[in-house]
Amino acid sequence: MSRMINGSYIIEPEKPKLCEFCGQLRETRPVGTNNTNICYACAHKPEYIEETTKKLTELIKNSKNVIINI
Ligand SMILES: [Zn+2]
Repeated sequence: MSRMINGSYIIEPEKPKLCEFCGQLRETRPVGTNNTNICYACAHKPEYIEETTKKLTELIKNSKNVIINI
C-alpha cells in the first residue's frame, strides 16, 4: 500500500479496487477527479491524464523523496 512515512512517499502495489471511471476491478490510485480511485488505463486517457499527472506531481513535490517498491 502506498503511503507517506517521515516525508518519504513510498509507492507500493495496491490491492485491486473498483476503478471509479471504468468500473473494473483493477489496481487503482486515488488521483482521479476529487481523489477518486482511477486505474492506470483510465488515468492515461486524454480526458483524465492532465489531472492525474498534476496530482501525482503534487504528491512527489510534497515528498522529501520517492521510493518505488514494486
Ligand atoms: Zn479504469
